[in-house]
Amino acid sequence: MIMNRVPEQAVLPMPMRELITPTEAADILRLTRTHGCNLRRLDPAHAKRLARDMTSGGWDDRIPEVISLCDHGACLQGQHRLEAVVISDTARSFLVSRDVPHDSAANMDNGKARPMALALGLVGVERGRKEICSAVRLLHLYDEERTKSPWSSWRNTRYTTSEILRFYDARYRDLPDFLPLMYTLRTGLHAAPAASLACAYLISRGGGDADASIEFIEGLASGANIGTKDPRWVLRRWFNNPNRPRRGSTISALQMGMIIKCWNLWATQSTWEIASMKPSERLPDVKRFAPSSVHRSSGVPRLESLPSIAPQQRAQRARGAHDSALPFSLAQ
Ligand SMILES: [Zn+2]
Repeated sequence: MIMNRVPEQAVLPMPMRELITPTEAADILRLTRTHGCNLRRLDPAHAKRLARDMTSGGWDDRIPEVISLCDHGACLQGQHRLEAVVISDTARSFLVSRDVPHDSAANMDNGKARPMALALGLVGVERGRKEICSAVRLLHLYDEERTKSPWSSWRNTRYTTSEILRFYDARYRDLPDFLPLMYTLRTGLHAAPAASLACAYLISRGGGDADASIEFIEGLASGANIGTKDPRWVLRRWFNNPNRPRRGSTISALQMGMIIKCWNLWATQSTWEIASMKPSERLPDVKRFAPSSVHRSSGVPRLESLPSIAPQQRAQRARGAHDSALPFSLAQ
């Protein structure tokens, strides 16, 4: 795995000064597009500005900024300078590192210039990258910090791109499977995307009943078929209160705490007088669902509850766990 390479094994490619002609630059850029090695969008205006410098005498060849090429011969770093070479039609010399491991691009710039969300693309995440990044941060805080510090103190905790990628890789790889439930919560409840995604994930992970977690989330989002004694009704009222906090760096943690509290009450058939969470509180564990006829009393059969599909299969299907062993084969 990229993240766990020990320093002894990491060979640093030695940058060498090289003259790059417009033809060579064009070749490198073509390979970059072919292999998708550079996830940053090429900004033509920026390349034109650099090209103008190159033709007007404003370009300084002594700048020790490296052009990094991966094992594809494509460009991980420096595509704007190469594009400027093509546009200005002048050969330029640069410090060039060759055979830089393709996946090390994930750690370049470390989240400042390169948006963190783009780096998730390098580990195969195709959709919802921004939301996944912020949910990974929140989940890591929940899993590592909730017993040590209150949610309100998490506001200043930032992680670098490589940390987020490492957390994602180690623990939250199935997070993209929960994007549909995130959209449900976000649209129905106007909850923050990170809180929505993290909660869908946590409730499914800790609740022990995939159907129940879906039923909980759909009811919470839509408000359909829930009575005033249902803790989801109380939480919906909190979310719909125009005076509730809507901004700030702790909003996701607050909403996550509220939704988990609500699940814990709902899953154990308890009621909630007033939805609230003190800044000094520690976020709770996710309780396991305790089945009761009360929760299934709406009388409306769920489409997902087709009797021909075993619950484990449904849970696995909901989690998109294609690679885990099914109780019996679905193939053929
Ligand atoms: Zn490459």
